[in-house]
Amino acid sequence: MIKIGILALQGDFDAHRKALGAYPSCFVSLVRSPEELDDLHGLILPGGESTTIGKLMVRHGLLERIQSRAAYGMAIYGTCAGLILLASEIVDSEQTRLGLMDITVARNAFGRQLDSFEANVDFPTIGTDPVRAVFIRAPYVTQFGEGVEELARFEDRVVAVRQGKILGTAFHPELTDDHRVHGLFVDMCSQ
Ligand code: GLN
Repeated sequence: MIKIGILALQGDFDAHRKALGAYPSCFVSLVRSPEELDDLHGLILPGGESTTIGKLMVRHGLLERIQSRAAYGMAIYGTCAGLILLASEIVDSEQTRLGLMDITVARNAFGRQLDSFEANVDFPTIGTDPVRAVFIRAPYVTQFGEGVEELARFEDRVVAVRQGKILGTAFHPELTDDHRVHGLFVDMCSQ
C-alpha cells in the first residue's frame, strides 16, 4: 500500500484526493500536523495561495519536517502554488518556501489577460496524447539547474519539471478527469 498525504492547510486539496481515487493502490490522507507526515511515501502540495500556505506551514510546524522527510526520500508533487513553494528562488519575493527544487519561478506570470485558461500541453513522459492543462494565476519556471528535468512547456515557458523524487506542475491536473500526472507521481512514490 502506497501512502500519500495531501497538505490540507489551504487550497484545492480535496480535488487531489478525488484524483488519487483513480489509484486504488494508494492510501490517501490529509496532512495538517507534523506527525501526519511520518510514514508517507509521498506528499502533494495543492494549488491555492503560496504566501498563505507558506505561513501556515510554519505555524503548524510543517516546514522543516517536510524538508527533512524529503531528504529521507519522501516524494513530493506540487501544483501551482505547490510548485512555487518547492522553488529555491521566487522572482521578486522573499516569501516562505521549502526550497527543495533547484528552480526559479515567476508568480502570476502569464499576465492579467491570461489569468485563467486551459490549453493542450505535450507531456511526453506520460504518453503521446497531450494533457488538458488548467492554468489559474499560474507561475512558470524561468530557470532550472542541472539536476532538473523539463517535462512540459507551454508557448516556450516551462510548466512541468522533475528533480529526483520531486515533481512540479504550474497547472492543475487534479481539476480534469485525466489523472496521468497523478499516475506518474504514484509511480515516483513507489520507487
Ligand atoms: N497565484 C498563486 C500564488 O502565487 C497560485 C495560484 C494557484 O495555485 N492556482 O500562490
